[in-house]
Amino acid sequence: MIIAIDGPSGAGKSTVAKAVAQKLGFNCLDTGAMYRSIAWYALENGVGLDDSAALGRIAREKQIAFGHVEGDPVPRRVFIDGVEVTDAIRTARIDRSVSVVSAHPEVRAALVDQQRRLGHAGDFVIEGRDIGTVVFPGAEVKVFLTASNEERARRRVLQNESRGIGSTDFDEVLADIVRRDELDSSRATAPLAAAPDAVGLDSTGRSIEAVIDDICARARAARVVRG
Ligand code: C5P
Repeated sequence: MIIAIDGPSGAGKSTVAKAVAQKLGFNCLDTGAMYRSIAWYALENGVGLDDSAALGRIAREKQIAFGHVEGDPVPRRVFIDGVEVTDAIRTARIDRSVSVVSAHPEVRAALVDQQRRLGHAGDFVIEGRDIGTVVFPGAEVKVFLTASNEERARRRVLQNESRGIGSTDFDEVLADIVRRDELDSSRATAPLAAAPDAVGLDSTGRSIEAVIDDICARARAARVVRG
């Protein structure tokens, strides 16, 4: 079974996806981390963010892998080409560049291919922007998770503070979120959009636990219906 969780940055997708996966015993895949890893690799190696051929090559040839911290069932560590980038892909520098990188069709084609291969391997919660629309249009459960801009910025600041990475300036984080939404929603290939059959969940003023329980209930119901 595939549970697709799409939505704009900071809506709580990562927290929700990881908790749902843990509760249901599913694997989970953070596709944003894949686009972030390509952006990191390009910046590290002096590849222009407008060089679609070179970026596409990186996405096709450099292996992205996920790993576990010992004792944690959820894969939170990220590697590209054997180098750990778990923290390096969460910096403000990557926040600023990733939407430009992810807009290149060559990059998307390569990563969507990998996401499909992974997802076909078992039960998965997959979070991103185009999972319910493009990557797995047949996903059994599709959620489009949103929250107000201010709530998303507040959460992102708290997350950055607790990780000790990224900006903790509310206005800067809010501006980045709004800018990234705009870029992700307006790109030609696989823009951020709710699938017509996705359930819209607004997490503003709602506890994350309630959202997690809601999605788990939908997954259990879908499983029963499917038999
Ligand atoms: O989810 P996260 O904020 O880590 O995603 C980082 C960026 O990766 C997004 O702003 C978007 O540009 C890109 N992305 C995408 N498609 C996905 C997941 C992420 O274009 N499925």
